[in-house]
Amino acid sequence: MTKHDYSFETQLLHNKHKFDPSTGAVSVPVQYASTFHQPSVDTFGKFDYSRSLNPTREALEDIIAEMEGGTRGLAFSSGMAAISTAFLLLSQGDHVVVTEDVYGGTFRMVTQVLSRFGIEHTFVDMTNLEEVRAAIQPNTKLLYMETPSNPLMKVTDIEAVVAIAKEIGALTFVDNTFMTPYLQRPLDLGVDVVLHSATKFLGGHSDTLSGLAVVKDEELGNRLYTLQNSFGAVLGVQDAWLVMRGIKTLSVRMNQSQENAKQIAAFLKDHPLVQKVHFPGLEDHPQYEIHSRQAKGPGAVLSFELENEELFKAFVENVKLPVFAVSLGGVESILSYPAKMSHAAMPEGERQKRGISNTLLRLSVGLESVEDIIHDFSAALEVASNTLLKKG
Ligand SMILES: *Cc1c(COP(=O)(O)O)cnc(C)c1O
Repeated sequence: MTKHDYSFETQLLHNKHKFDPSTGAVSVPVQYASTFHQPSVDTFGKFDYSRSLNPTREALEDIIAEMEGGTRGLAFSSGMAAISTAFLLLSQGDHVVVTEDVYGGTFRMVTQVLSRFGIEHTFVDMTNLEEVRAAIQPNTKLLYMETPSNPLMKVTDIEAVVAIAKEIGALTFVDNTFMTPYLQRPLDLGVDVVLHSATKFLGGHSDTLSGLAVVKDEELGNRLYTLQNSFGAVLGVQDAWLVMRGIKTLSVRMNQSQENAKQIAAFLKDHPLVQKVHFPGLEDHPQYEIHSRQAKGPGAVLSFELENEELFKAFVENVKLPVFAVSLGGVESILSYPAKMSHAAMPEGERQKRGISNTLLRLSVGLESVEDIIHDFSAALEVASNTLLKKG
């Protein structure tokens, strides 16, 4: 019989950690111990101290490595802990090229923290490869991508940026939070480090903060492990367990949310009060072709702009179903206001330059019935426009 590789969906359930080898338990045991008894002076066990390695965290690290097609996964206390620790692969005097509409926390870290340690940066529109090339300096050591980007859903051609990085011997990172390995596997496209806020779709239930990093190259994996252990921002065991539980349903959650998102994007696009919809699943998205080539689907996050600030405020006040909050990737729909929430760390001028307007809303679509969401949005837009008409 020929070897049959399980599909991604099956692997989410039937992986190395399907059951605990010592008890048969079908859920990974949560190991709270901080330290581990050693057999003798000259024989040490695999585990010694939980910052360095913990069996529960290790299970999640194995699972994400397999999902991304990497050799090593590392779990951190938050997405920002994973991203910051990965940036520590750089040294004083290095330069990094970063996608301009990067996550607000990454923007803050690069501009306010790395800069104090002599690590320079240039922000570019990564959809424009000429701009990427033009930003390269003799000390450029890293090209940092986030695709689709947050909150404008711009898509970077991952393979093209990897090719540029290879020419100059620089590393490439991709923040894969919006896609998850179910829809996009950057390591397969030649990327060196994949980063996640597992707080979002991987955890999936808005109940834990966590971050993940995955690499394919073993030597790079060792270097990143040393940084994880040195910096110490590791993921706690309860959170590791919650992320593993979330991962089991990743594909079904993603499928449902993504289908909903497609219908909501189409509804918003046709609505007269909506000025613009940013979603890589729309055929008129500027990088529709590129996204369709490198990812299996558009995901479940979209953003849209309303005509003016009054309408915007009235809409937010009248919409009932989504929670109005930061974050994304939960089972419930989450509506957020990038200018005042995720991108508040970015000065107004920088936001305007990037096209993050004051009437832009980001929607992370959950598992509700799509009819209910569309009905809610439709009603809120109607009430909002009537209120404005009355005010005249
Ligand atoms: C939320 C998020 C982060 C940061 O992750 P935390 O878990 O909040 O620290 C990084 N990148 C993207 C794209 C995010 O959405």
